[in-house]
Amino acid sequence: MTRNPIACDVPFDTDGKHHGFLRLPYSRDDSAWGSVMIPITVIRNGDGPTALFTGGSHGDEYEGPVAIQNLARELEPDDIRGRVILVPMMNFPAFQAGRRTSPIDGGNLNRLFPGRPDGSVTQKIADYFTRVLVPMADIVLDIHSGGKTLDFLPFAAVHVLEDKDQEAACEAAMRAFNAPYSMKLLEIDSAGMYDDTVEAQGKVFVTTELGGAGTATPASVGIALRGMRNLLSHAGICRTPPEFGQSRGLDMPGPDCFVFARHSGLFEPLVALGDRVEKGATVARVWSADRTGADPVSYTVGREGIIVSRHVPGLIQNGDCLAVVAVDTGPVTGR
Ligand code: ZN
Repeated sequence: MTRNPIACDVPFDTDGKHHGFLRLPYSRDDSAWGSVMIPITVIRNGDGPTALFTGGSHGDEYEGPVAIQNLARELEPDDIRGRVILVPMMNFPAFQAGRRTSPIDGGNLNRLFPGRPDGSVTQKIADYFTRVLVPMADIVLDIHSGGKTLDFLPFAAVHVLEDKDQEAACEAAMRAFNAPYSMKLLEIDSAGMYDDTVEAQGKVFVTTELGGAGTATPASVGIALRGMRNLLSHAGICRTPPEFGQSRGLDMPGPDCFVFARHSGLFEPLVALGDRVEKGATVARVWSADRTGADPVSYTVGREGIIVSRHVPGLIQNGDCLAVVAVDTGPVTGR
């Protein structure tokens, strides 16, 4: 198979802390032999397990980039045994542009896995993770949030897997991450996701939705940083004991968890993230965006539960995800 054109300018197998770049050749009008430079940090101290932590798969999600920047500065080789690979802005062109998708090729990185070594810029990034970085890792964390158009209750998540031993290992890692909420996630659009690629390689994988609305907060960054440190302890890479707070279990058992807009207009939320709602409760109204005096359209939820996600911009479009409700499955313990 074609070699991936990305070159990493830091070593993966040399002890110490190394900051550098994944350099992806990208010839274009303003730079004939130019490159996309994706920041990477590799921290190694002897033999041991490898953790791969990523953010910025979607370029408008800031919780992962901010928290991983902090960890890359703070974590020292003496703190660990094994290796930690940090890529805070996976889809770097999208991150630079403040967009979910890449301005170069329109690529949504988390829908283009496993990628192609001879494909578009975004497909090449996906292929490098699939064939170079993920195979090195024992435990993989990918930090997501709602970006500019959604906001989430902060949760870590795992998927239902065919291999029940792997599923149990992922769940144990999710509990160790110890976000305020811990979710069994139903994906509505899983084709081409990084998650599937990582899980298919048999890795312990945790993903998150840690907020959104196009910014990080002190709370969301704190959750991400503590979660990453807890995962390093859980994996035996750090010796410091994990710190556990309260976490509640959530489940999204079916498509009736989602409410989609069927009108465009002015969005009026009637519930907040974390609110408990009964089946049939009205959670939002959509008003006319171009006249007064018209009745709004009311939106209700199809099941009782907790509001875990909501639409963010003040205007909403026909087909947008308006709200998500999940079932509360009770307290989750860190261990
Ligand atoms: Zn995302």
